[in-house]
Amino acid sequence: MQGTPGGGTCSGLSSLDRQMLLVFSFILAAALGQMNFTGDQVLRVLAKDEKQLSLLRDLEGLKPQKVDFWRAPARPSLPVDMRVPFSELKDIKAYLESHGLAYSIMIKDIQVLLDEERATMAKSRRLERSTSSFSYSSYHTLEEIYSWIDNFVTEHSDMVSKIRIGSSFENRSILVLKFSTGGSRRPAIWIDAGIHSREWITHATGIWTAKKIVSEYGKDAVLTDILKAMDIFIELVTNPDGFAFTHSMNRLWRKNKSTRPGIFCIGVDLNRNWKSGFGGNGSNANPCSETYRGTSPESEPEVAAIVDFITAHGNFKALISIHSYSQMLMYPYGKSLEPVSNQKELYNLAKDAVKALHKVHGIHYIFGSIGTTLYLASGITVDWAYDSGIKYAFSFELRDTGHFGFLLPATQIIPTAQEMWMAILTIMEHTLKHPY
Ligand SMILES: [Zn+2]
Repeated sequence: MQGTPGGGTCSGLSSLDRQMLLVFSFILAAALGQMNFTGDQVLRVLAKDEKQLSLLRDLEGLKPQKVDFWRAPARPSLPVDMRVPFSELKDIKAYLESHGLAYSIMIKDIQVLLDEERATMAKSRRLERSTSSFSYSSYHTLEEIYSWIDNFVTEHSDMVSKIRIGSSFENRSILVLKFSTGGSRRPAIWIDAGIHSREWITHATGIWTAKKIVSEYGKDAVLTDILKAMDIFIELVTNPDGFAFTHSMNRLWRKNKSTRPGIFCIGVDLNRNWKSGFGGNGSNANPCSETYRGTSPESEPEVAAIVDFITAHGNFKALISIHSYSQMLMYPYGKSLEPVSNQKELYNLAKDAVKALHKVHGIHYIFGSIGTTLYLASGITVDWAYDSGIKYAFSFELRDTGHFGFLLPATQIIPTAQEMWMAILTIMEHTLKHPY
């Protein structure tokens, strides 16, 4: 979207500095045993029809655990992005060519982007330490985010509190920020980010949003009205184990980190583990799949913690689940093509939200139900929310549409968050004005 891979992320450094940083980060990464993606590419395939789409879907079976879909085969109008390891490139490209599937190279060498991302983080961390400030335009580790949460709650204790709603499979705290100006069990809005750990832009925009809420209260009339009547809850890191792992070992990890005796592959796709439509189309029973649903609904502690919390609270009116990438705003269902009962209302609200988003930086998001806009996906957060009585249930796919994909440069954090804020504000205002 903005800039090209390799451009604009290390401004202010001479090319020698930059090379040194890259070399240093490479050595550090190697020393820490991080997975290396040198030569791995992301290919973009444009399927002409359903038949070509199914040829792409076949790749998961033909090359198990080799092809990692960044944008899974959905419909002919949507591109398919897939990460292919260097060792498989020749085979996969031959497969595409032999079936007449047109492709382009979206990312030529994933490791180049990873090295730049790491160098940018290191530089920003040094600056944060020397100025004792937190940079909202940088990516952060889990420890950094959790320590930011503590400082933030202390600084804004009149409005913000921290709630520990459970612990992850690897026993990390699952934290939620509560924004409230009083009352008890007020109607509430839920926002979660990072259920898929590699979607780093979601945690970063969540943090910016939390800060925005405290700074706009008393200034922005709409937000002030919302907070006088409702509470807002934000879960910044919905998959803490996966997120920690994206920093320590594998930047491209999506699932959580749960293991089970006798099962070789690790992790469950937390966005397939919910009760609504569990086990249906668009979820996988194979533990090695990136969309593995788990053994039973809510088998994963990260999902169960949210279900227990929202259910016990009993007064949530809206739920917004943040993902990346593709630039979409969607509503239920994912499990079927059947329209929900207030489909028209959700359609119009999504349209207004996307319009408000577009005004900020001119970025275009598409919208509609998940099943019709993207593909069928069962056992997902927003379907569960909807079926549990939360009428305003939405999921975002943030920037971009496939230039950097999950490796969106930190320079895009604030613009992405600014535009998302206007969409979220539109949804929250509608929720306030149309109670049920
Ligand atoms: Zn996601």
